[in-house]
Amino acid sequence: MSQEFIPTRVFYEPGALEYPLGEGLVQRFRHMGIPVSPTTSHNRITGIPGNTAAAQYREAKRTLVIGVRRSQAFQSCKPSAHYQLPLVTSCPGMCEYCYLATTLGKKPYVRIYVNLEEILGIASKLIEERLPEITQFEGAATSDPVPVERYTGSLKQAIEFFGREPNGRFRFVTKYTDIESLLDAKHGGHTRFRFSLNCSEVVKNYEHGTPSPEDRIIAAGKVLKAGYPLGFIIAPIFRFEGWREEYRRLMERTAEELAKRAPSGWSSEQLTLEFISHRFTSKAKANILGVFPNSSLPMEEDERKFKYGQFGYGKYIYQPEEMKEMKEFFLEQAKDYFPLAQVEYFV
Ligand code: SF4
Repeated sequence: MSQEFIPTRVFYEPGALEYPLGEGLVQRFRHMGIPVSPTTSHNRITGIPGNTAAAQYREAKRTLVIGVRRSQAFQSCKPSAHYQLPLVTSCPGMCEYCYLATTLGKKPYVRIYVNLEEILGIASKLIEERLPEITQFEGAATSDPVPVERYTGSLKQAIEFFGREPNGRFRFVTKYTDIESLLDAKHGGHTRFRFSLNCSEVVKNYEHGTPSPEDRIIAAGKVLKAGYPLGFIIAPIFRFEGWREEYRRLMERTAEELAKRAPSGWSSEQLTLEFISHRFTSKAKANILGVFPNSSLPMEEDERKFKYGQFGYGKYIYQPEEMKEMKEFFLEQAKDYFPLAQVEYFV
């Protein structure tokens, strides 16, 4: 199934027209027959229809906003990187558990920023400030940047920018497989291309509008063949009937595909693995049930352990003995299928 993102409506900030990318995109969407209207700010969009939270969410996910990123500051992105690289906000996927549904409010419309040269200019300065240290940037902290890449080409430009930066490194994560245009980018080994993976059961039930795990694995094989440093985030990990076997098969199939595609001399030492167990906050639960009233996500507080967070809110994680069991299981899988991979964490 094609996961091509074609917005239902497009908004643009008039300032975006001062950039060739912004002007080109407005023309392109008009040409496609998509309603395109101006908006005063990419932060305040009115005109997304829907009478219920669920309808507003769905419509927002089909709305694209072309904006200019004015802020000179990049958010920090501890612990995985030093800074976020703001290219895109939100994504057209509709994963029930997505934390962006909580952080971006009720209408998580997709935003792209057309002043890429200015954004990369800020990245240059930040790299310079930390010399001779290496500075890491994360391109997917508030989005999945791949679905809009076919319109913007921004990810490719960012990858090539970091390819030329001896002291800058880039990383992002995606569930999407429309990555052909990135395969010939001159990445210089400075971008870690990560895929978010989960077993079919989870993708089918909760990750609406995203490619199948099989398609993601095939895309990862192509990325590996293109010489990128590769990584996988297995998340969120759920316990359900047969979870061990499902996750084992996922790891096995991934290893098989990578073995077929790996360039000569590649070893799993160059692979990173991140494991994140499912967790939720009370606020997220309320939001999720507003948008997906029939959600079958396991969110029974009584079954979980409450863990206090830094900012006065806490999250519900699996019970300690369950966590221990899951951690052991995934570390064992990693060892079996990717014996030398760097396991960055299990949380
Ligand atoms: S693909 Fe990622 S960013 Fe998009 S809805 Fe799913 S979890 Fe959220």
